[in-house]
Amino acid sequence: MTTGAQETVDTCDLCHGKDLVAFATQVGKTTGLTFTFVQCTSCGLKFIGRRLTAERNLALYDESYFRGAGFDAAVNYVMMEDNGDLRRGENEGIIGKIRVLKGESLELRILDVGCGTGSLLRALRDHGYTNLSGVELSAFAANFARQATGANVATGDLLSAPLGAARFAVINATEVIEHLREPSAFFPRVRELLAPGGVFIYSTGNASGPYARLLGPRWPYFHPEGHLVYYRPETLTRYFRRAGLDVFVPTREQRAELLRCEDAITNSQLLYMGASEPGTKGTVFRLGARVTKRVGLRAATLFQGKCFLPLGVRR
Ligand SMILES: [Zn+2]
Repeated sequence: MTTGAQETVDTCDLCHGKDLVAFATQVGKTTGLTFTFVQCTSCGLKFIGRRLTAERNLALYDESYFRGAGFDAAVNYVMMEDNGDLRRGENEGIIGKIRVLKGESLELRILDVGCGTGSLLRALRDHGYTNLSGVELSAFAANFARQATGANVATGDLLSAPLGAARFAVINATEVIEHLREPSAFFPRVRELLAPGGVFIYSTGNASGPYARLLGPRWPYFHPEGHLVYYRPETLTRYFRRAGLDVFVPTREQRAELLRCEDAITNSQLLYMGASEPGTKGTVFRLGARVTKRVGLRAATLFQGKCFLPLGVRR
């Protein structure tokens, strides 16, 4: 059912179940509309059951969003481009993961989905990687990324953007998959674009991590205008398998190394959320970044729980 700016989703995207239980409502920051959060009783997927229409959804990702004036103040990517330190840890963590999973070659074909203003692409280029592509929904951000990095950046979404026939060794998606309207179409496209042995790495909130469980409906990741889906390791594994992706099983050494990468990402994400968010929330994140850097970074990583989410690999 669609009324004006919103529509109701009555079927689970993952398992097609229709038994959905509402567990919270929230008023959206930029629209003033009321959004309902639901959970599928069959598979456990959490998502926005009363959400913006596709057109209104797309309109969120204008220039102001990338300047931190949209529904998520943490996405002040233009400010972060001027302050490279804020995302350095995140980029180093992702590049570290690429090395752990695919080795040291700088020729790897890498695609960054939702590349925003190109922070990761620039870091990869600075490390000497030569075969870089991005895809970005926002024309403003895509242009910015193209000019800043020289990478091959397509404007559009992953399903329709012109990405050529060559397959990728690595596809990354940093804080992207929670924005998807239809994950069941996204993951098969990821598989199609990966070369055999290619890996899908990403970060997103873990809806069954300790942080999410402790805060319940007050988990700050709940941004109903733009974050439409909230995953657990089980739901992601199911999405992967259905798309023909295997879950990557690391060795003990790889697991330890991946956790170290995750620590760098955690600290960096706390830093940039602290720098972007006004008020109390920003203060908490700024304090968190300072404290974890000194004493409890691993604890913060485990508390957030992003490290428990599975990585995908194409057979
Ligand atoms: Zn379901």
